[in-house]
Parts: sequence; C-alpha cells; structure tokens
Amino acid sequence: MHLSRFPRLRFAHLPTPLEPMKRLSEALGGPTIWIKRDDCTGLAGGGNKTRKLEFLMADALEQGADTIITQGATQTNHGRQTAAIAAKCGLECHILLEDRTASEDPDYVLNGNVMLDQLFGASLSKYPGGTDMNAAMEDVAATLRAEGKKPYIIPGGGSNAIGALGYANCALELVNQANDMGLRIDHLVHATGSAGTQAGLVTGLVATNSQIPLLGVGVRVPQPQQEGNVFKLAEKTCDLLGISGAVKREDVRANCDYVGDGYGIPAESTMEAIEMFARYEGILLDPVYSGKGAAGLIDLIRKGEFKDCDNIVFLHTGGAQALPGYRDAFDFESYC
Ligand SMILES: *Cc1c(COP(=O)(O)O)cnc(C)c1O
Repeated sequence: MHLSRFPRLRFAHLPTPLEPMKRLSEALGGPTIWIKRDDCTGLAGGGNKTRKLEFLMADALEQGADTIITQGATQTNHGRQTAAIAAKCGLECHILLEDRTASEDPDYVLNGNVMLDQLFGASLSKYPGGTDMNAAMEDVAATLRAEGKKPYIIPGGGSNAIGALGYANCALELVNQANDMGLRIDHLVHATGSAGTQAGLVTGLVATNSQIPLLGVGVRVPQPQQEGNVFKLAEKTCDLLGISGAVKREDVRANCDYVGDGYGIPAESTMEAIEMFARYEGILLDPVYSGKGAAGLIDLIRKGEFKDCDNIVFLHTGGAQALPGYRDAFDFESYC
C-alpha cells in the first residue's frame, strides 16, 4: 500500500495525538482507554472529513473543477469541512442539506455547522428527508454546467474509494504511532455512518497486517446494512490500491445497537457519553456520531466485552461544532 501514488493536498494537522484517558478508564474500571484525536485534524475545527478531503480535493483540482457540490444532513460536519477547504482553494461550494430529522428547533436549523457553512461562504439548499440526494446533486451539477461552471461532486460524507484513502492513511499513522510508543492496541472503536472512515481503516489495518480488530458503532442503519455498505466500499478501496480482495467480509464488524430513535436524534446513552467525556476528560463529543460511538464503547466495557488488560483506542471523529445546534438536548439548570 503506497499512498504517495495518489494526488493529495496537505492541510491536515497530522499526526493527530494518541492520548490515554486515565479518569474515564478509572471510572469505568475496565480496560485502558486511549483516544486518537481526529477531532484535532485542524480544518475548520477538525474532524474525520479532513483526511478524506485531502485526497478528494486534490482529485477535484486535477480535474479542473471550479465548484464543489456535496450533500449531508442539516448539521453535516462534512459540509462544514468541505465549505472551509473549498474557500481555501478558491472554489465555489454548494451544500445540499437533507432534512432527516424534521426538527424545527432554530438552533438545529440555523446554528452549529449551518452557521459555519454560511461563514465559509457556501450556498445552502434544503431538501426533504428521503430525497434521492445523489440525483439532486446531479441536477445541481447540470444547472451549473449549463452556466459554464466545472462542478465536482463529492458524495455524502466524502465516502468513496478516494476519500477512504484518507483513513487507510490514518491506519498507517496509528500503527506507526503505537509502534513508536510501545503501545499494543487490542481494539479500535469508532462511530460509523457513510462508511468511508471504517472502509479506509479496515483496508489500512489489513494491508499492514496489524491484526488490530476494528469495531464501527453505527449511527443510522441496521447492522447488516451498515456492514454491507462498509464492506462494499472497502472492496473498492482495495481495488484502487491494487490489493483487490485483501479485506474479507469477516473483517468488517459494526454494532448498531446505539442508534436510538434514528439518525441525528441523540439517545439517553448518547447524552451520558457526551457528559462523561466532558467531565472526566475535558473532551467534546457530538450528539450525532462520536457521542453514539462513545456510548457503544462505554456500554460494551460495562458489559465486560473487553479484558481489563486490554488497550482500547477510541477514534474521535470530531463533530463538536454541531453542539450549539443541539442546545435543547441538554437540560442544564438555568444559572440566572
Ligand atoms: C461523518 C462523521 C462520522 C462518520 O464517518 P463516516 O466516514 O461517514 O462513516 C463520524 N463522526 C463524525 C463527527 C462525522 O462527522
């Protein structure tokens, strides 16, 4: 696996730190929990889309694009990060927002990532939940082409084989970091959604023969569908890297028991995880992804799924910029 064969821009702050979470580990009384800080990738507040966008934006520029089109849910972190790098590259950015939650809370609709999208100068448009967003992006692209523009479509979450290269690279980075520190990683856990992060990671972990088991904690669809999506994309990522067939179906594991009422709707366990990370470690999680991923991690530790001598790495995929959009989900006492 030789990633330098692929065009890549360099704007991520790498390597991201790998740190122990002593107080959280103590509180849970099980394995030692480490955190890989991909919330600190440096682009517009950080998050996992940065690594994907290094490869995707390089491809866009190579194809002569002057406009980026992408899509996501209203509080999409991917949209925010794409808007920021498009601004830095001097490209127009159109973000199609799918209203997956039907929330009318003004914080959700206008604050958090939405406000930041607008600050970065992206143009936003709203679509009802259930819209065929890929078709909608093609329609916008056709309109822009008719105006003489050169649009480049980035799929939701930046999750195609090119984007997944960013997480194959993260796997290399993590394994090297752990080797340098003398840290034996027994499990790697993270939130999985549009599948690019897990597909890239599993490809990188298999290609390095790291033998580190990977678990994605789902945030939207049931387990068979999530694992199927990840495996399909991992196969494509392997094809792109010239190692077709390297990832086996059984390498892809997802646990989708922590979704709660649906995508973008925090469950009680999500809110508990967000508070635990904040109060034991001073770390911000989000209510859509990393909070659900951490809820899965915490519950599996409580159920004794890991050995006390294990080192578990939680990949923090970011998302705290969505928090102001979810003020309503916290019931803090009024101080005034
Ligand atoms: C997009 C996102 C994820 C999920 O990553 P995928 O590659 O879409 O599976 C996890 N956490 C955060 C904060 C995200 O924005």
